[in-house]
Amino acid sequence: MSHVMNTYARLPVTFVRGEGAWLWDTEGKRYLDALSGIAVNTLGHAHPRFTAALNEQIGKLIHCSNIYQVNGQELLADKLCSLTDMQEVFFCNSGCEANEAAIKLARMYGHQQGIESPAIIVMEKAFHGRTLATLSATGNRKVQAGFEPLVSGFVRVPYDDLEAIRQVAQHNSNVVAVLVEPIQGEGGIRMLDIDYLEQLRQICDEHNWLLMLDEVQCGMARTGKWFAFQHTDILPDVMTLAKGLGSGVPIGACLTAGKAAGLFKSGNHGSTFGGNPLACTAGLTTLNIIEQDKLLAHADSLGRFIWQGLVTALQGVNGVKEIRGQGLMIGIELEKPCGDLVKLALAKGLLTNVTAENVIRLLPPLVMSKDEAQQLLDILCPLIKDFMQS
Ligand SMILES: *Cc1c(COP(=O)(O)O)cnc(C)c1O
Repeated sequence: MSHVMNTYARLPVTFVRGEGAWLWDTEGKRYLDALSGIAVNTLGHAHPRFTAALNEQIGKLIHCSNIYQVNGQELLADKLCSLTDMQEVFFCNSGCEANEAAIKLARMYGHQQGIESPAIIVMEKAFHGRTLATLSATGNRKVQAGFEPLVSGFVRVPYDDLEAIRQVAQHNSNVVAVLVEPIQGEGGIRMLDIDYLEQLRQICDEHNWLLMLDEVQCGMARTGKWFAFQHTDILPDVMTLAKGLGSGVPIGACLTAGKAAGLFKSGNHGSTFGGNPLACTAGLTTLNIIEQDKLLAHADSLGRFIWQGLVTALQGVNGVKEIRGQGLMIGIELEKPCGDLVKLALAKGLLTNVTAENVIRLLPPLVMSKDEAQQLLDILCPLIKDFMQS
């Protein structure tokens, strides 16, 4: 019997090594990775320059505490801010921690204005993490059930519905911020309408609210821009990152700008591991390799190639509802629950995932080649056709 706590329904496969977009299991069978450990392995597996940079850092210094200056944090924060026009970065170890920091910032922002019970607008079907505050912000009962009492101070509205936000603005003077994923990941690869974010920015400005974007899944070059909000002209007040930032080394970040910058003072927040030299080297090297290897343009063009391939192959297939996404964040919504497809794909040597019950989710590593993307299509499309006919 396993002594690992049973928090995941795990597939019966164990991987022992990887290279690029490929993984090998204990039996020597090879799999094409179209999931990247859920948007984590930005650079695929065992990327030579990434591995070399980590090895070099491990040989020098892994951890030293935030009691001291950490040069890697300075460099990574400079780089993240230069890519976004954000001003400050708090480093932590995961997405939920990055969102916890954002939630705490919003509350502090409210208290500074004399609002004693600050509230944050969050979305239906949102996913922000598994800590108490972030599961309370999450819009999925399955994530919350059994853990009540939930953390208070969240007001929920439908996703992509500005009118609902305007309604809340009229009646609730405790609101201090809006927290939203530009593209919902766990919620089923659902995207905000093009001008939604620009109008939401305006609403936030009118009411003096913070606009807080959770880019934990959709950020880090996956959509063909460094960050998903950069498909618009706005700048958020807060943005959270994690998943792909360290290409597999745990690191999270909470970035601030404008009225959110400078809110935390020394002693207000912290993390023992957050932003240690190893994690920061992973983040900085990931960003550098994305730049050197022109992976933004590649994510965009490969995403279009996969999307077009899916549309062509699945055209007219009964029960295929919608194929949507941006760059290398693609969802195929079917008319029936399709969790079984994950196992069928696994048997054929393809790693993928199903979210929101009926959406096949593709999050390939940014280093996947066009030839590998074609192999992905050649395995997945017939599987979907057969599945929908059965
Ligand atoms: C995965 C995810 C999180 C939580 O990240 P963890 O590192 O698992 O805590 C938060 N927000 C979004 C959008 C995510 O996809």
